[in-house]
Amino acid sequence: MHPSDLRNAIRNAGVVGLGGAVFPSAVKMNLSGHCERLDHLILNGAECEPWMTCDDLIMRERAEEIVAGIHILAHLLNPQEVLIGIEDDKPEAIAAMRAACAGTGYAVRPVPTRYPSGGAKQLTKLLTNKEAPFKGRSTDIGVQCFNVATAYTLHRAVNCGEPVISRIVTVTGHVARPQNIDALLGTAFADLIAQCGGYLDGVERLIMGGPMMGFAMHTDAMPVTKATNCILAAGLGELTPELPVMPCTRCGDCVDVCPANLLPQQLYWHARAKEFDKAQDYHLFSCIECGCCSYVCPSHIPLVQYYRYAKNEIWAQEKEKQRAELARQRHQARMERLEREKQEREAKLRQKAPARPEPAIAGPEAGKPPIEAAIARARPRSETAVAESGERNG
Ligand code: SF4
Ligand code: SF4
Repeated sequence: MHPSDLRNAIRNAGVVGLGGAVFPSAVKMNLSGHCERLDHLILNGAECEPWMTCDDLIMRERAEEIVAGIHILAHLLNPQEVLIGIEDDKPEAIAAMRAACAGTGYAVRPVPTRYPSGGAKQLTKLLTNKEAPFKGRSTDIGVQCFNVATAYTLHRAVNCGEPVISRIVTVTGHVARPQNIDALLGTAFADLIAQCGGYLDGVERLIMGGPMMGFAMHTDAMPVTKATNCILAAGLGELTPELPVMPCTRCGDCVDVCPANLLPQQLYWHARAKEFDKAQDYHLFSCIECGCCSYVCPSHIPLVQYYRYAKNEIWAQEKEKQRAELARQRHQARMERLEREKQEREAKLRQKAPARPEPAIAGPEAGKPPIEAAIARARPRSETAVAESGERNG
């Protein structure tokens, strides 16, 4: 297939990043304007967070299909090298992927099991020693990264004609039989929990995602979406205890652990003060919300919540700006249309108006131009008037 037809088919099948970001994959497969050819195509087989095993399972059980998906990616992106990064505590997945990749030239590379090595930027650094610039794209350094589950759905979409209708979800924590389930999108969390034998005692919170980056759910009536990589029924042991928040002491512990080389305490100050421009100057959008800074903060400051708040505010302001600009453009277009219509109407009226006939002139002025004829007609009257006036005065 021609690359653009293939990208359209992938877009229509709803293929997105299944690592959790759910960014449309077809967009990442279009290099035009970014670089001619990729240096490295990276397949991310490192789990996003502790407790998750969905990527491990799919690599162990569906390695051939993942490699079929990688062929499609390689066809579209023409990389010089294909690297598959898998954490070194997953020997079965490594063995399965190595067997499936035999003879393809794709390299399976174990990486240290250290959170958050599953982050795209962190895995890129581990595998290639390259780092995308702040505010830059990974393609700026010749790298593009896809999750292994995304490669699997790519194979299903292109080779089997099946759009993304399901995904593997890790159901874990305080449930009777923790397991991975290939769940149809839309399935209620409650049904997956029931499939796992129901809740055990001591569940404090239901989390979509992992303990570090996940979102608390207020109900298990929520449906599985493409972003649902894990459902964690968390007890006290899985949660960071909620301790009283104290002032920042500028101890710098958060800086030491930040995998994105940011200054978390500066981001915190500016987000808290609603100085969103300054927060962006400190590369707020390079924060991957891994939660490491909050985890180590001795003052128990929920730092990531401040970053999420700041990002949401900035997005809302951007949307508002776009709305205002759109309204301005529409108003201007309307005014131009009204003016155009008015001018068209006037032109039509001018065309329709009949030419006025010249008044017929008879008598001695016949044949003279109208103004001269009028002067000639008026002259005898004014001469008579002068004569009459002279008689009265004299
Ligand atoms: S770890 Fe907490 S207290 Fe220390 S500098 Fe960072 S935000 Fe401040
Ligand atoms: S959450 Fe904290 S540690 Fe993680 S990337 Fe953002 S600022 Fe850095």
